[in-house]
Amino acid sequence: MALPGVTSEASSQGDQVVAGASPNRAVFLDRDGVINQPTIRNGKSYPPDRVEDFQLIDGVAEACTLLKEAGFQLVVVTNQPDVRTGKQTATNVEAMHARLRDLLPLDDILACFHVDADDCSCRKPKPGMLLQAAEQHHIDLTRSYMVGDRWRDILAGQRAGCACYFVDYDYKEARPEGAYRTVDDLYQAARQITAGHPLEHR
Ligand SMILES: [Mg+2]
Ligand SMILES: [Zn+2]
Repeated sequence: MALPGVTSEASSQGDQVVAGASPNRAVFLDRDGVINQPTIRNGKSYPPDRVEDFQLIDGVAEACTLLKEAGFQLVVVTNQPDVRTGKQTATNVEAMHARLRDLLPLDDILACFHVDADDCSCRKPKPGMLLQAAEQHHIDLTRSYMVGDRWRDILAGQRAGCACYFVDYDYKEARPEGAYRTVDDLYQAARQITAGHPLEHR
């Protein structure tokens, strides 16, 4: 898996949305704590170490089905800095993502393997992964959503122009700022999104 970067303008030439056509809408999904159970240590969230430990949260498959039936693209955007620091292998992460693709109707999975010091454009709270997916999949970000369980997810979504849902586990870390709506889980977010909830929380 290549490290994602923002696609250059040149590569998108000749691949533009036809004028008047409706661009796609998407729901961007954080991975750990939104799709799969996070490992909690000392009140903080960590990704599972092994593919065998990878467990979907209740209601996630139903939520994805609801959103797909409503016409949304589903794009996972996940920070996996343990690859950069050597605590995890890219092979393991790829195996988890292959499993996710088998289990859920996902349109894409973008992963950032960097740490803050790398100053990449993809690591949330930067919106790089959302912007790259928007370009590749012709997504109208202003009619799209981000669902995450940490402030970095919410800020990335806000910066991309999406309406944001925060799955609040009351982690011992900074909370998101600005406009967002709090939900118990992805299923609750999906119910609200597909009910045509107004996009005022951004
Ligand atoms: Mg998370
Ligand atoms: Zn990155």
